[in-house]
Amino acid sequence: GLREPPTAWLFSKSASIEPGRRHSQHKGSFGDVLVLGGAAGMTGAALLAGRAALVAGAGRVFVHTLGDPAWPVDTMTPELMFRDAAAVEAMNWAPLTLVCGCGGGTVVRAMLPRALSHAGRLVLDADALNAIAADPMLQSLLEGRGRRGAATILTPHPLEAARLLGVEEAATVQSDRLRAARQLADRYRSVVVLKGSGSVVAAPDTVPSINFTGNAALASAGTGDVLAGWMAGLWPQGRDALLAAQLATHAHGAAADRWVASHGHQGPLPASRLIELLAGYPP
Ligand code: AMP
Ligand code: MG
Repeated sequence: GLREPPTAWLFSKSASIEPGRRHSQHKGSFGDVLVLGGAAGMTGAALLAGRAALVAGAGRVFVHTLGDPAWPVDTMTPELMFRDAAAVEAMNWAPLTLVCGCGGGTVVRAMLPRALSHAGRLVLDADALNAIAADPMLQSLLEGRGRRGAATILTPHPLEAARLLGVEEAATVQSDRLRAARQLADRYRSVVVLKGSGSVVAAPDTVPSINFTGNAALASAGTGDVLAGWMAGLWPQGRDALLAAQLATHAHGAAADRWVASHGHQGPLPASRLIELLAGYPP
């Protein structure tokens, strides 16, 4: 009988798209990342995203934390450059890839009008998505970005996706993940990574894909922040938003799969350890 056409494809060749580093390249060749997140009590989320962007190969990574005062240094990762509110205000954001929302709390809302007006690459995660879900003005700014063709990646987990879609429960999203991801991608003309087991990567007018790497060891605090930062670090290195999202999602899960293969199934994979595994990518 008649069958529905496939609505998704599985991707497996992402690792082969890695371009590598040419001999003549310098740090300016790889793009700069700015992380906005880490409200009081959640500084670590911004540090994890910043560290992951570094190991993804970003040329320089700037971090602005939203607690008061802004966090000044990561002594474990002195490569990260911290900027306080005045410095981040004065920065030229145009060439930057922004990662906004990791551990952002409610205070991240204040950053969003400028972030959503930013013409360059933008990754929106966690509390940035929650703030947008709660505010029609921010929703129309995000829609405006899409209409202008500005490149945006949204990385909701199922509950964040439910809030963005205005539905009560994550279970509604989970009952049809492909549909939820496509709805968000179409509404905001953005690439959407609907996270969780079998992350769905959707883009407007594109057949969505389902990532098959990853496992429940990733169900641990901070792994989503690592994904957002890692993705932002990869993105400017000659990749469009969809490929960056697919490649990052695939590599993030594959790192966890390698870890489980060598450690057995007991226990969570700490997010800091995940960054170390990604630093060795491709293995
Ligand atoms: P977050 O929900 O923002 O903390 O992000 C969690 C990250 O871990 C996302 O990249 C999820 O896709 C991934 N993850 C969590 N649980 C699982 C699971 N059971 N299988 C595969 N990936 C998972
Ligand atoms: Mg998260």
